[in-house]
Amino acid sequence: MNRSEQLFGRAKKVLPGGVNSPVRFYEPYPFFATSARGSKLTTADHKTYLDYCMGYGAMVLGHGYSSVIEAVRSQLDNGTLFCVPTEREIKLAEMICKVVPCAEMARLLNTGSEATMHAIRLARAFTKRKCVIKFEGGYHGAHDYVLAKAGSGAASMPASEGVLEEASAQTAVVPYNDPAALERAIEKNRDTACVIIEPVLANIGLVLPEKRYLNEVRRITEQNDVVLIFDEVVTGFRLQLGGASEFFGIKPDLAAFAKALGNGLPIAAIAGKREIMSKLAPAGAAYQASTFAGNSVSVAAAIATLETLIEAKNAIYPKIARTCDSIVDGIKDALSAAQLDCTVNSIGSMFQLFFTGEKVKDEASAKKSNAAIFRRLFDELLKRDVFIPPSQFETCFVSYAHSEDDADKTIEAYSEAFRRIKK
Ligand code: PLP
Repeated sequence: MNRSEQLFGRAKKVLPGGVNSPVRFYEPYPFFATSARGSKLTTADHKTYLDYCMGYGAMVLGHGYSSVIEAVRSQLDNGTLFCVPTEREIKLAEMICKVVPCAEMARLLNTGSEATMHAIRLARAFTKRKCVIKFEGGYHGAHDYVLAKAGSGAASMPASEGVLEEASAQTAVVPYNDPAALERAIEKNRDTACVIIEPVLANIGLVLPEKRYLNEVRRITEQNDVVLIFDEVVTGFRLQLGGASEFFGIKPDLAAFAKALGNGLPIAAIAGKREIMSKLAPAGAAYQASTFAGNSVSVAAAIATLETLIEAKNAIYPKIARTCDSIVDGIKDALSAAQLDCTVNSIGSMFQLFFTGEKVKDEASAKKSNAAIFRRLFDELLKRDVFIPPSQFETCFVSYAHSEDDADKTIEAYSEAFRRIKK
């Protein structure tokens, strides 16, 4: 029995399912990690994998990025949690407001779920309306109003037990990339407070917005006075410094950030229009609070991350995109050599494969991918020291730390995996 198997046996006794987040489990047991550096993860069995999970997108600069680690280290000597304001929280909020197109104010929080949950409450407080519209396959965290037809780990489950029907009844779900469906849903439900959307779906595999789709979403929400929330938990500071909003040139009313903001430390933010943000307590009457919000360690990590991303944005974003493009080109060549039916979606530093001959443009087409082949791909890649997220309904992430040599090894691993799958 190897060390990961032993550890999983122990874990199952004290952690439900042996893990602290469902997406980390796969059959028969997940490998256990001991350390990570750059583009690589090391396991309890002393194996080293090229990592394309990258903290589900959080590690935009790579694992253990020196300036971030240095900032955390020096902060530790000065205290970790004050629960009174600090100047560095202002600095971070100022940086967010400088780089995020819709951000006139920001509130710091800890996780993506918290950010989307409070963004929705804020939209309700601002509009005095109740309903939320989300998209099929869109994932916004694990709270009650957004679990309907959600992506990520929830994509492979029936509706979660414990979520009240009364809560789910306030959420309408429409297909992505279908502006007419959104228009109909808003017409039907005049009590809509907000539309929450991942500008690029990254939790049902990777699904891109069709040309002008996001412009249409903006037009429809604006015309109906509905708050548009961009869930940029994945795309924020990753697709571009100013996230999907900058990439596609569209300003939502509110946006939620987490993941890449702290390059591996837990931190999140809501940002947006002053008139809406001012509704947050204590300025306004929409309540939000958190002991750990703006804690000095996460703030130090986020300032160091943003300083690096701002300073070197002309080098970082093109480099990550180039590395991702070369991996995707290599994978496409290998797929045609192996004559496998597969659609590859990619944008910026993200990519995912779907084993279907059809174009993947929404949840319904994503779910046509052959899950058994995807699972074989995961296993074959792991045997070749490449770790991708175990689920079809996730996205592969390239970081600034991934080198050309990593890309070549990755293409080789995919090519061999395809040959094994084809046999
Ligand atoms: N929104 C999106 C788009 C996400 O991908 C995730 C997590 O994967 C979340 C929200 C929830 O973030 P967290 O897991 O930090 O609560």
